[in-house]
Amino acid sequence: MAQAAIFMIEDVDTATQHAATAIAEMAMRDISPTPGNFCVWYHYLAGTTPALRQDLDALLSNGKVVSGSQMQALFDKYFRENGGGETIQSTGDELQATLIDVIKQVSQAGLDAKAFGATLNKASGSLGEARIDTGSMRELVGELIAATKLIGQKNQALEAQLKASSTRMSLLQSRLETARREALTDALTGIGNRKSFDVALQFRAHQAAEQRSDLCLMLLDIDHFKKFNDEFGHRVGDQVLKIVGSKLKASTVGADAAARYGGEEFALLMPQTGLTDALDRADRLRVNLGSHYLKNRTTGQSYGTVTVSIGVARYRSGEQLEEFVTRADQALYRAKSEGRNRVVAESNTLR
Ligand code: GH3
Ligand code: MG
Ligand code: MG
Repeated sequence: MAQAAIFMIEDVDTATQHAATAIAEMAMRDISPTPGNFCVWYHYLAGTTPALRQDLDALLSNGKVVSGSQMQALFDKYFRENGGGETIQSTGDELQATLIDVIKQVSQAGLDAKAFGATLNKASGSLGEARIDTGSMRELVGELIAATKLIGQKNQALEAQLKASSTRMSLLQSRLETARREALTDALTGIGNRKSFDVALQFRAHQAAEQRSDLCLMLLDIDHFKKFNDEFGHRVGDQVLKIVGSKLKASTVGADAAARYGGEEFALLMPQTGLTDALDRADRLRVNLGSHYLKNRTTGQSYGTVTVSIGVARYRSGEQLEEFVTRADQALYRAKSEGRNRVVAESNTLR
């Protein structure tokens, strides 16, 4: 997964195996092989989204039949993003249509090969007859040459068709990937959006629990941003959001996921990072952001500095994700009420 479950990095063998199993299991359960259903089943098998796995396991429990609308609901819940969804759906439909074409072409080739085999059989049968005159022999060889030519031509046509289909499929695949990436990206800042954060959080929390590793979250909110907007205008405000987004992104290391959590609030998920390191990194980011005077490049107008408040929490294995996020949010709230432009750690009174 580059950013989120939908962009998984799997080796080709594993991906092929998951895809094949998904198609076979869906066929077995009479679930139609639409791109949406396939996406759900694939991720179910690959185990990228634990909550999806739980939901589908519950639906499948005791051999129950999963309906088309239940599959649709799962797809909507875990993979559809407002705006990008339709492009994904229509590109997925086209991809499926191309796939069906390829399957038809390949099975047609199978039929042609069968017909060729039958001609050969007939010929070898005749050759086995004790007496065969020159006329019949010539006729037989003629038939064989014609059949061989035909299959040769058909194979060439098939090859050309398959080439065209595969070019088209790569094109559709990359369009699908672009649409998916856009669905997980915040348009203004270019970093991950809330959806990408939710997906990354699910995946990383599951991983941290499984590997017994650290996972920290920082929630960052720009101080007095409303005043900034009021004083200099919304467009200048947008530029500030872009700067904060890019500085947050620049501060990422390893498998960190940076996202715009909403409005003027940002999140950074830090796998393999303990609370002390997370606090340290949050403070460096705070100092870095607050140490730059912002000014208009063309007019030279100065906008002063922008400071941020940050709350940091550490994931406790097995807890609800909401609890984890709430702890970071409460710490952020305290950073605000204690005077802003500071980093506050989660309160540890709970444990
Ligand atoms: P605090 O220090 O308590 O966080 O104060 P604040 O003014 O930053 O917080 P408040 O929640 O009162 O205001 C947030 C402002 O962020 C209000 C809203 O107009 C602005 N905002 C949210 N999204 C955007 C955006 O996409 N662009 C711009 N320019 N402003 C935004
Ligand atoms: Mg604010
Ligand atoms: Mg806010």
